[in-house]
Amino acid sequence: MSRHPLRHTAFRNTLLDWYVKYQRPLPWRKTKDPYAIWLSEIMLQQTTVETVIPYYKRFLLSFPTIESVAASRPERLLKAWAGLGYYRRIRNFHRAAKMVKKQYGGLIPRRYEDLIHLPGVGTYTAAAIASIAFGEPVAVVDGNVSRVISRLFCLKDDISTNRSKEKVRELAQTLLDSNKAGDFNQGLMELGATVCLPSRPQCPQCPVKRLCLAYAKGVTSDYPVKLKKAEYRREEYFCLLFSSGGRILLRQRSSSEILSGMWEFPLFPILTKSQSREEAVVHELRRYPWAIRKEAHFLPIVRHTIMNRRMTIYPCLVELKEKNLPSKNNPYRWVSRQQLKSLPLTTVTRKVFYPRGDFTYPHLD
Ligand code: SF4
Repeated sequence: MSRHPLRHTAFRNTLLDWYVKYQRPLPWRKTKDPYAIWLSEIMLQQTTVETVIPYYKRFLLSFPTIESVAASRPERLLKAWAGLGYYRRIRNFHRAAKMVKKQYGGLIPRRYEDLIHLPGVGTYTAAAIASIAFGEPVAVVDGNVSRVISRLFCLKDDISTNRSKEKVRELAQTLLDSNKAGDFNQGLMELGATVCLPSRPQCPQCPVKRLCLAYAKGVTSDYPVKLKKAEYRREEYFCLLFSSGGRILLRQRSSSEILSGMWEFPLFPILTKSQSREEAVVHELRRYPWAIRKEAHFLPIVRHTIMNRRMTIYPCLVELKEKNLPSKNNPYRWVSRQQLKSLPLTTVTRKVFYPRGDFTYPHLD
């Protein structure tokens, strides 16, 4: 697409018309409440729309305002977030809510330049809140927008480089409709999410195909240019489910660990391939001399991917003779099925408990 102003105008009008007609009816699109928009943007980071919707609705029922977040105990917020992953998001949201209360009297700032200084608010989130809730003409650039722009203009540099990111931002800003910044930004993201798909762009259905350079040249599959493929690190873990008298043992992660405050099963990495699973568990159990074993058996394997890590987890249920604990002031707690519902669990622990969506441990009262 050339930089001719008329072409930009054609692009804006076509995209906005299409967005008004074909946008998905997502719950955060029915509001202009900056708090609800901010919440949705944070939840949507690295998480799919389908996963976010029920969490978003439940969270708003429990915490209807930024003040309610600021006043909440961290444990309650973590519990509401449990299962969404990337828990730093909710910790930062809590800190940001307290800052909004203290520095802005509970009113979320309107300007990109102020929003960007809140904990957990980066360029993307600040631009999304400023444009969607307050109409500030600032372009939002996420992965979808980068892909669309890369194809519209046939950008030849690797899309992951800083130079490319800067170029994409610049082009997005020149395309932006400053009178309808919120709708325009959402329209461009929606086009990337539903039409200009990563591997199979639906060009015949695309509203802006006559303005797209990659489509005109028949080279859409060459864009965006990615030189390096992501490399995954494969890791294997055992997790121990100590069980006794209808209770199960959980450990709370300490303040120095990531996911601090969340509850999990004791988890340990498999360091050597030379041991069998049984030998490795027997070896690990030596670290728990207070745990007198009655019997042990393996449960279904759980898989979990986080960032570039692919984790395979082998859960082992270890029935103990008694509900001992190492000493006072330890991070462990024996919990019942009922208590389990009120604790913020790590995603791996939730997957072990609910491998197919149902709770599968009859051993718990
Ligand atoms: Fe993407 Fe195809 Fe539309 Fe170009 S024509 S923006 S490649 S969907």
